[in-house]
Amino acid sequence: MTIVETAKSLGMYVHLPFCRRRCSYCPFAISVDLRLEPRYFECLVREIDSVVAVPRRVDTVYFGGGTPSLSSFENLRSVSRALSRFGLDSVREWTLESNPEDFNSDSAARWASLGVTRLSVGVQSLHEAELRPLGRLHGRDGALDAARAGVASGLKTSVDVIIGLPGQSPESFSDTLRPLLDLGVGHVSLYILDLDEETPLRRRIAAGRVSVPDEDAVAGQYEKAVEVCASFGLRQYEVSNFARPGDESLHNLRYWKREPYLGFGLGAHSFEGERRWANSREIGEYMSLVESGSSPVSFEERLSDEERREERIFLGLRRAEGLPDAEIRELSPDRAEAWVARGVENGWLHRNGGRTAFTARGFLLSSALIAELF
Ligand code: SF4
Repeated sequence: MTIVETAKSLGMYVHLPFCRRRCSYCPFAISVDLRLEPRYFECLVREIDSVVAVPRRVDTVYFGGGTPSLSSFENLRSVSRALSRFGLDSVREWTLESNPEDFNSDSAARWASLGVTRLSVGVQSLHEAELRPLGRLHGRDGALDAARAGVASGLKTSVDVIIGLPGQSPESFSDTLRPLLDLGVGHVSLYILDLDEETPLRRRIAAGRVSVPDEDAVAGQYEKAVEVCASFGLRQYEVSNFARPGDESLHNLRYWKREPYLGFGLGAHSFEGERRWANSREIGEYMSLVESGSSPVSFEERLSDEERREERIFLGLRRAEGLPDAEIRELSPDRAEAWVARGVENGWLHRNGGRTAFTARGFLLSSALIAELF
């Protein structure tokens, strides 16, 4: 049971954790045991039904995973019906994450009939040789067909692509991005292969059986992404995200602006300005807790003033519009002044109308650079 009281509008995140198999690089809270689906969906609806009051209008909904597109229409509809008790009339964006192998001739239209307005398609690469080490189930044609179907359906269509893949070069990456943008895709989320957690791919790389591009090569791929996206009219609006004007992800902007959201399902996170909490990441535990009428929350933190300020700066600087200079100086005026001066001199920051923001080159190093501020 959760009561959300906040002065702002609200986003809803729903985690649909099922995948046909686990990709070799996947660190997410998922399950490949599809027999659990009926029980999981019952729990999900029950968790949504347990919310006592949401006194703010919901303006974004995000079905993330896992592979939401793998779920049956009936299961997706049961979750949508449960959410409708919050009043979804003001929803401006409803995203569904999808994988290419789940598209057929009418899937986009059926998702749209639930209220979905935006598809996020997990393409990652259009090259079989790059997809194979990842354990992905689709190939080039399937990915292009899915992106084409998304665009043709009239839904806003975003693609996820990854740089730093085994065997990838700036040219092969460009040959992933260009054909997708040629189809009219209006949004790209660009991820750098990040194997922080223990995964089969990380073990293979550590054992020397697979090699990945070095830092300079990844930087070259990132610069290529900025260049190719710009040539198709997609503006970089966040360190990893590019969009045609009007195609920016409203739900993800919510995370970067520190606006409230409520998460449901396995491992789902919720946030309301001063407090952040998350459900259990273990599916058996999540379902047992919900079934016994207990809260599935397994983590909760209350942020201090200092932590909130740091978050505002860290997340604000991830966005292309950056932050007002005064806000950056809030933590430590002298350190911030020297940091900005050094950044402008070295070409990783620029100043504009009293705001400071990363340049495209600076974005690549932004996590390490921002850490110097704290
Ligand atoms: S499809 Fe996505 S969520 Fe599912 S296993 Fe692969 S990377 Fe993980």
